[in-house]
Amino acid sequence: MERILVSACLMGRRVRYDGGAKTSRDALLAEWREQGRLVPFCPEVEGGLPTPRPAAEIEGGAGGAAVLAGAARVLTTEGEDVTGAFMAGAQAALAVATSFGIKLAVLKEGSPSCGALSVYDGTFRGHRTPGQGVTTSLLELHGIRVFTEDHVAEAGAYLRALEA
Ligand code: SF4
Repeated sequence: MERILVSACLMGRRVRYDGGAKTSRDALLAEWREQGRLVPFCPEVEGGLPTPRPAAEIEGGAGGAAVLAGAARVLTTEGEDVTGAFMAGAQAALAVATSFGIKLAVLKEGSPSCGALSVYDGTFRGHRTPGQGVTTSLLELHGIRVFTEDHVAEAGAYLRALEA
């Protein structure tokens, strides 16, 4: 049975920067949970950051690939450089995914760690820009497909193809 990495906050865990969760009500995710397929994971917590914590964005609206390449930092609203924790969280996510032989993930859109299609633009004004979070970039670099919580059906199609 293929396992699926999932953002812990989508599973109701209160690990977000504001101390809350973003619980998904998606029926397919619930089915996968029942089947024991899901591996919940929060890269920011596993990277050593506390909860709650100051919001963070990738500077200049760059994507996770730029962070991995050392070309952009992740900064908090207070200007603290938390790039190291984000990198550590991404590496920990990859290690867990590899240990389970995981080939796909469903991660929280918009996050500087977990975003798959968009991230915030680094201005802390609530503006998004196309791009990926640091963890998503690292996972995809290693061949793991990442879907957002709004594209669980597409993740399901990918899973069916894997298991066909
Ligand atoms: Fe959720 Fe990912 Fe943010 Fe953790 S890092 S709170 S799993 S979006």
